[in-house]
Amino acid sequence: HAKAVGRNNYQFFRAEMKHLTNDRLLLEHSLHEALEKGQFYLHYQPQVKSENDHVIGLEVLLRWGHPVLGNVPPDQFIPVAEEIGLIGRLGEWVLNTACSQLRDWRSQGFKDVRIAVNLSVQQLRQAHLVERVASVLRANELAGGDLELEITESAAMLNPEVAIEIFNALRNIGVELAIDDFGTGYSSLSYLKLLPIQRLKLDRTFVKDIETDPNDAAICSATIALAHALGIEVVAEGVETEAQRDYLLHREADIMQGFLFAKPMPAEAVPVFLNSPRAV
Ligand code: C2E
Ligand code: MG
Ligand code: MG
Ligand code: MG
Repeated sequence: HAKAVGRNNYQFFRAEMKHLTNDRLLLEHSLHEALEKGQFYLHYQPQVKSENDHVIGLEVLLRWGHPVLGNVPPDQFIPVAEEIGLIGRLGEWVLNTACSQLRDWRSQGFKDVRIAVNLSVQQLRQAHLVERVASVLRANELAGGDLELEITESAAMLNPEVAIEIFNALRNIGVELAIDDFGTGYSSLSYLKLLPIQRLKLDRTFVKDIETDPNDAAICSATIALAHALGIEVVAEGVETEAQRDYLLHREADIMQGFLFAKPMPAEAVPVFLNSPRAV
C-alpha cells in the first residue's frame, strides 16, 4: 500500500513538475518577445512627505500584460528576466519610458515631483550604467535630482565595494539613491555608512503589524533613528492604515508610500492625482 501511495505521489509530483517547467519555459519564451510586442507598461505610485502629504516622488513599477497569462506580477517575471539576461534591456526601457514620461509631466507644469526607478542587481554590474543614466537624463532635459534609483539592500550588499563605487559615480551626476526593502537583507553597518545614499525604504513587512507587534515597532523606530543619525531620510513602504501612518508620523518617518495614499496607477491618472486636493 505504502508503495502505491508513494508512487501516486511521485506521479503527482512529476505532473506538477512538468506543469511548472512548461510555465517556466512559456514565461521565458514570452519574455523574449514581450518588449518587441509592446506588452510592458508602467505604473506610478505616489510617495508623500509625511508632515503635509505633498507628493514628492513617484515610484515606477513595471507591469507586464501577457495576452494569455494575463498580468504577470513583477516579483514573478523579473527574476526570470534576470536569469535569461534580459533585465539590462528591460531596465533600460523602464528608465527611458519613465524619464520621457516625467519630461511630459514637467512640460505640463508639474515641477516638484521626481521619479524613483528600481534597479536590478545586474544593472549595477552593467558597463556604462552611469553614462547611460546621464544620457537618458540629458535626452529628456532632466536634472540628476529628478531621478532616484532604488537598489535593494541585498543587491547593494552583494558586492558593497562595487556598489559604493557606482553609487558615488551616480551621485556625481546628481542622481539620488535609495536602499529598497531595508531590513530584509543583511546590511553591514560599516558599509551602510559608506554608501552615499539619501534614503532608506523601510520594508513593508515591518510596517504591516507595527501596531500589534512590539518587535516590528521596535525595528521601525530603531531603523528611523539609525537613518536619521546617518543623515538619511526614511521612506515607509506599504502604509495601508491610518494607525500605521500615525505611528510612523510620531516616529518621524520622512516619507510614506502605500495604498492608504494611492495604489500604483497608470500614467494618465497621475496628473489628476497630483491636481486633486488630498485629505487622508
Ligand atoms: P518594490 O520596489 O519594493 O515596490 C513596492 C511594491 O509594493 C510594489 O509591488 C507595490 O505595488 C507594492 N505596494 C505599494 N504599496 C503597498 C501597500 O500599501 N500594500 C501592499 N500590500 N503592497 C504595496 P509590485 O509593483 O508588485 O512590485 C514588486 C517588486 O517588483 C518591486 O518591489 C520591485 O522589487 C520589483 N520591480 C517592479 N518594477 C521593477 C522595475 O522596473 N525594475 C526592477 N528591477 N524591479 C522592479
Ligand atoms: Mg522599489
Ligand atoms: Mg520595496
Ligand atoms: Mg520589494
